[in-house]
Amino acid sequence: MVPMDNKLDIKPISNCKFYKKRPLIFAGPCSAETEEQVMETARQLAATGKVDIFRAGIWKPRTRPDSFEGVGIEGLHWLKQVKEEYNLPVAVEVATEKHVYEALKHGIDVLWVGARTTVNPFAIQEIADTLRGVDVTVFVKNPVNPELELWIGAIERIYKAGIKNLGAIHRGFSSYEKTALRNQPKWQIPIDLRQRIPDIPMICDPSHMGGHRKFILDLAQKSMDLNYDGLMIESHIDPDNALSDKKQQLKPEELSDLLDKIILREPDSHDASFLNTLEELRAQIDMYDEQLFDILESRMLIAETIGKYKKENKITILQSARWKEIVEKAIAKGHERGLGPEFITTILEAIHQESISHQMKVMNQK
Ligand code: PEP
Ligand code: MN
Repeated sequence: MVPMDNKLDIKPISNCKFYKKRPLIFAGPCSAETEEQVMETARQLAATGKVDIFRAGIWKPRTRPDSFEGVGIEGLHWLKQVKEEYNLPVAVEVATEKHVYEALKHGIDVLWVGARTTVNPFAIQEIADTLRGVDVTVFVKNPVNPELELWIGAIERIYKAGIKNLGAIHRGFSSYEKTALRNQPKWQIPIDLRQRIPDIPMICDPSHMGGHRKFILDLAQKSMDLNYDGLMIESHIDPDNALSDKKQQLKPEELSDLLDKIILREPDSHDASFLNTLEELRAQIDMYDEQLFDILESRMLIAETIGKYKKENKITILQSARWKEIVEKAIAKGHERGLGPEFITTILEAIHQESISHQMKVMNQK
């Protein structure tokens, strides 16, 4: 049973004062670089009429030294100007007490905690303590490693400081293996987070997830199909010359076109005929699940019989040649039925493990 952390009275996205309609859009450069770059990016983004919150990194946590580490406090003045000239709320990343203090002093509307900070409970607690008694909206990015408890722990610490307008940003998880996407989405983790904290606003950051602009549309669409509340997308007037994350940033006009391409589907429908059809189809799914369980049960009973038989004949449980043959045949059969080899292997391995435990139980019975 998954515990429900429903003691957290986190407000749904409809309570966020910057939310007009789904999806809530955060956009802006990875980093604030110059006053002109910030103001021009904001001007073009504001002109699209599609952006709800302007984002820019002022303090940049870089993996390696000697990378651009942000302009610091000076950038906060530019963001204040964005707010005044374009009537856009502004957001920055904070990682220390000083960042929070300076951001609030300069009237920043939304703070977000970056992936590298969410992993560190000391840093999160320091941020939470600085936020005590302040009315500001805070978003917590997922930690760099795929650990749900760490993400929830960071959200809880900030919640306990009295911040109710709190949300999560899913930017994916890093791995040592080089993969097409910069960070692995592992969509099940944010889905589980929403099981645990049902109302928490969930934003997808396809820019950091993809690491390249060519992936942004598909990832954004997928997040919308999973009923996320919003998107955070990096946008720069001249991405090729950006001082950070150049490959993944979009020009404001590209961002605007991309947003037009996203198809928004409703999470629910009240249309009776749609609901009836859906119910019938779901009944069929339930029936097949029932059959799957019956088959799995029968299969385990056979495994136990085999266990008994092997025991009488003093044979070990695992015969690797037999296992290899099963997997190869199954992959070929799966292919004929449109089932991918990874899926077949995962499911067979799980069945095999369960089967071995059933055989063990029988073989080790006194
Ligand atoms: C960012 O938003 O620019 C950033 C540094 O993101 P992340 O914390 O997801 O790496
Ligand atoms: Mn970035």
